[in-house]
Amino acid sequence: MYDVIIIGAGIIGTSIARELSKSKAKVLILEKSVDVSMGATKANSAIVHGGFAEKHSALKGRLCYKGRIQFKRLDEELHFGFEETGSLIITMDDDKEPLEKIMENGLLNGLPDLSIIGPEEIRKIEPELTEDVKWALYCKGAGICSPYEMAIAMAENAIRNGVRLELENKVTAIKKEDEHFKVTSDKGEYEGSYVINAAGVHSDEISKMVGVDNFEILPRSGEYILFTRGTGDPINTVIFQMPTKLGKGVLVASTYYGNLLIGPDATDFTEKEDTSTHIERIANIYGQTKELYTKIDPRKFIRSFTGIRARSSTDDFIIEETTVKGFINIAGIQSPGLTSSPAITEMVIGILKDAGLELETNPDFDPYRKPIVTKKPLKPLKEITPFIELPLGSKDRIVCRCEQVREDEIVDALHRGIKVKTVDGVKRRTRASMGWCQGEFCKSRIIEVMEREYGEKIDPKFDIEHSGVNRVQKSDLLEYLKSLEEE
Ligand SMILES: Cc1cc2nc3c(=O)[nH]c(=O)nc-3n(C[C@H](O)[C@H](O)[C@H](O)COP(=O)(O)OP(=O)(O)OC[C@H]3O[C@@H](n4cnc5c(N)ncnc54)[C@H](O)[C@@H]3O)c2cc1C
Repeated sequence: MYDVIIIGAGIIGTSIARELSKSKAKVLILEKSVDVSMGATKANSAIVHGGFAEKHSALKGRLCYKGRIQFKRLDEELHFGFEETGSLIITMDDDKEPLEKIMENGLLNGLPDLSIIGPEEIRKIEPELTEDVKWALYCKGAGICSPYEMAIAMAENAIRNGVRLELENKVTAIKKEDEHFKVTSDKGEYEGSYVINAAGVHSDEISKMVGVDNFEILPRSGEYILFTRGTGDPINTVIFQMPTKLGKGVLVASTYYGNLLIGPDATDFTEKEDTSTHIERIANIYGQTKELYTKIDPRKFIRSFTGIRARSSTDDFIIEETTVKGFINIAGIQSPGLTSSPAITEMVIGILKDAGLELETNPDFDPYRKPIVTKKPLKPLKEITPFIELPLGSKDRIVCRCEQVREDEIVDALHRGIKVKTVDGVKRRTRASMGWCQGEFCKSRIIEVMEREYGEKIDPKFDIEHSGVNRVQKSDLLEYLKSLEEE
């Protein structure tokens, strides 16, 4: 019998599990996918938002800043990759009133680090931006992080401190029996005193399993373009355009590792699991961004991807114990859910305590998790070639040429309490196959290491099935952009 069963291993589920592992509570996470962080947590803008954009009347407005200010400490403990870069909302308009309104809202949300700046200061911060920008709202403490590494780090640390994680366990039914819950998955049956529903876009379906149907999840997809490493280096902050009815609009940022990232767009015509990308949407994002930041080179495109926002019918976060005592919904966690996750976690711990869960301190809790890889500059290919050519099993052998990932780093990633069953899982942990060749060179080399370490064959079909599909290819995008120019 578990004290708490958490459904979903995105940033919300893993972060709550890690917090609960500070106590002696018996905790189980059930996740339907082959790995942690396979939902919205792996496909988003990766921005640690300032906390000024959402209205103070909304829970998401009140939790964002409270979450943001915990990232530095969390990164020092868990080493997932976080950098305080600052953010700008820019306008090409002479009128700065709309920015002042957003700033007012930010002040209501408790932010101490907002200012409105003019062209000269904007140019100092972002010299590469178009000269047409007139005003910007600057938030000094906003930043970027590596979101999937954050969830992986949370899960690894939670497991180390006693939490059990069951992957490939899709919850199909929940029944309340006397004072506890029976949770059924496609793999087994589990009993727990409290159930936390952190199932992202599927949280409405999970909630309905206990008869609570007071909200729906209305999926809204957003597509992105990612460029080669180094392309993000000229961008110093996160650059937003003025928000629209559909959200924060297309942004320009560098990823934590220096890839230029542009997007997302937004459409409600989508299925919950449809993460395919579309050439018209990708080209549209490119066109919108090109006007702001002329340095974008489409030949440096490496990948497109889609994230699905779990927008709730209330258009706010839903974080509450439901009418079914002991069953807690955490739903509608769209942006800024990643940023808010530490504050959401605090709130849920409070709800659990109020609901009667006693949390006795775990005296063995270890808050630290070592990084697998750290951000480092790439060496010239000539210098690393001898290390690429070393045979399998050699100390210092480089497996992935583009990102210069060593074999010992991959081996480390495979033995941290979560079985990594796909090349995609190795990629998220080490960056191997994340570079310009997108695994063409190293995929078979990664599989070799996985097979040796686990002593079993990796099924290529299984790997492809779990690695996402239907992505716009570079050659197609270049051709499409050319055809648009010719029109
Ligand atoms: C396009 C986009 C851009 C965003 N940008 C930002 C940003 O820049 N900054 C920010 O702060 N936030 C951003 N967000 C929001 C952020 O990504 C989410 O709020 C956050 O990742 C939500 O985490 P989660 O754990 O609730 O959901 P998820 O990560 O989706 O996790 C839910 C998990 O539940 C599992 N699950 C579902 N059903 C079942 C079942 N039946 N049984 C077992 N497991 C199940 C899923 O497989 C999944 O792993 C963005 C979101 C999107 C989509």
